[in-house]
Amino acid sequence: VPFDQLDGHIWMNGEFVRWADAKLHVLTHGLHYASSVFEGERAYGGEIFKLTEHTERLIESGRILGFEIPYTVEEINQACRDLLVKQGFTDAYVRPIAWRGSESLGVSAQNNRINVAIAIWQWPSYFDPATKMKGIRLDIAEYCRPDPRTAPSRAKAAGLYMICTLSKHAAEAKGYADALMLDWRGQIAEATGANIFFVKDGKLHTPTPDCFLDGITRRTVIGLARDLGIEVIERAIMPEEMAGFEEAFLCGTAAEVTPISEIAQYRFTPGALSKKLIDAYEAEVQPKQAQAAE
Ligand code: PMP
Repeated sequence: VPFDQLDGHIWMNGEFVRWADAKLHVLTHGLHYASSVFEGERAYGGEIFKLTEHTERLIESGRILGFEIPYTVEEINQACRDLLVKQGFTDAYVRPIAWRGSESLGVSAQNNRINVAIAIWQWPSYFDPATKMKGIRLDIAEYCRPDPRTAPSRAKAAGLYMICTLSKHAAEAKGYADALMLDWRGQIAEATGANIFFVKDGKLHTPTPDCFLDGITRRTVIGLARDLGIEVIERAIMPEEMAGFEEAFLCGTAAEVTPISEIAQYRFTPGALSKKLIDAYEAEVQPKQAQAAE
C-alpha cells in the first residue's frame, strides 16, 4: 500500500484529518527549499520512548533553521500520545514534521506559516530481521557530512537527507544495506539514518557528534554501556582504524541496535558486546509501568 493511502488519521496543525486528506499545495516552501525538520520515534507497549527528548530536538531543529514551532513541548507530546491511541497501535513508528508553508515562494519566506503534522504507522524493523545477529553490510559513501559552516549539521533537517538518500541508493545498487558516511575531514561520521559504534578490547569507540546527528539512541546506548561497566570513548576515528576493530553496530530509533558484518573492505564479527547492548536496549525501551509491575 502506498504511504499516502494508509489507514487512519494524521494530526495536522492541531486537528486529526483523515490519512488520505492530509495534503499540501505543490508550492510549499518546505518542498522547494527544504525548510523542514522532522523526528523519528518509536512506541513500545503503548509508550513513546524518550518522547520529550524527541519533541525538544524537533523544536531545536526548527530554531536552527530559523523558525519557531507554534506548539509547546507538552502540546506536541500530547498530540503524539493521542494519535497513537487513535491509530490503535501499541508498537509503532512516530513521525512529527514541521515545515514552512505556501504563503510565499522565494528563498526568503520570513512570514510563511510554520505547519506541524504527525503521522504514526507500523514499521517493524528497519533492516531485514533475518540478518539481525548476522550483521549487515555497508559501503563507504562518496558524499561526506558537511562542515558545520556549510550546513546546519546538528539539526534533523530534511535538506541534510539529500546526501543520505543518494548514499543509501548508491550502496543499495551495489547490494549493500546501507552506507557509512565520512565527514569533510575524512573522519567516520554516521550511517544514512543511524549512528555507529565500534568495539575493541572490550571498549566502545564512537565518533564525536560535531557534524552529524547526536542520536537519542546513541546517547541511550552510551548510558547503558556505562551502567554495564563498559568504557565508552568518544573521539575522532579515521576509516583505516576499522582494520583493528572487532565488532561494529549501528544504532538509531528505526534501526535500534543492528550489528555490522562488513564496511567496504573491513570485516567484523557480531559478538558478545553487541548482543549485550541489543538486549540492554530492548529492555530499556519497554514502558516503565510494565517494568515496575514485573
Ligand atoms: N543519524 C541520522 C542521519 C539519522 O537519521 C538518525 C535517525 N533519526 C540517527 C542518526 C539516530 O538518531 P536517533 O537515535 O535519535 O533516532
